[in-house]
Amino acid sequence: MFDESPPTFLIHPFVLPGESHEVSIKPMPEQNQDCIFCQIVAGEIPGRIVYEDDYALAFLDANPLARGHTLVIPKQHYERLDDVPDDEATALYSAIHELVPAIEAAVDAPATTVAFNNGEAAGQEVPHTHAHIVPRFEGDGGGPIHSMFGSRPNLSDDELDDTADEIEP
Ligand code: AMP
Ligand code: ZN
Repeated sequence: MFDESPPTFLIHPFVLPGESHEVSIKPMPEQNQDCIFCQIVAGEIPGRIVYEDDYALAFLDANPLARGHTLVIPKQHYERLDDVPDDEATALYSAIHELVPAIEAAVDAPATTVAFNNGEAAGQEVPHTHAHIVPRFEGDGGGPIHSMFGSRPNLSDDELDDTADEIEP
C-alpha cells in the first residue's frame, strides 16, 4: 500500500570526483580610484599584506610607529568607521581580534594600542577607514590615550548625565 503523501525526489548536485560542490562567491570590493588603500586592495600598488579574508585586508604601515605596526581595513572603500555596514564591521573587528595576538607574538610585544583616527579632526589622513594596531613596549614613550590631550574639560555631574542621555545609538 502507498500512503497519500507525494513522492520525494532528492536532487544531487553534479560533482566530479575530487571536486567540491561548495561555490564561494567573492564580493567585488567597491573602490575609489584615488584612494591609496583601495589601490593596495586592487594590487595596483604594493603592500606588505599580513592578513586577508573576503571583507578585510591588513598590511604593515609604511611609516611604522613600532615594529609590526599594522593597518586593518575593509576591502570596500568607506571613509569613516560609521560608514561601514554592520556585517563588514563585524568582519573588520574579527580580523583585528585575530591579528592583535598574532602581531604581539611576532614582535614579542607585551601590549598593543588599537586605534581608529575617525575623521579629519581626529587626525585621519587616509580617507579609507583603518584600524592601527601598534605594538607597545615598556618605556616606548608612547603613553596612554590620555596623553594625546593637553587638558581635560571640567564637566559637572549634570553635564555628564545630559551627555549620557544625548547618546542614542
Ligand atoms: P591616519 O593618520 O590614521 O589616516 O593614518 C594613515 C596611515 O597610513 C599612516 O600611518 C601612514 O604611514 C600609512 N600609510 C600611508 N600610505 C601607506 C601605504 N602606501 N602603505 C602602507 N601604509 C601607508
Ligand atoms: Zn579606499
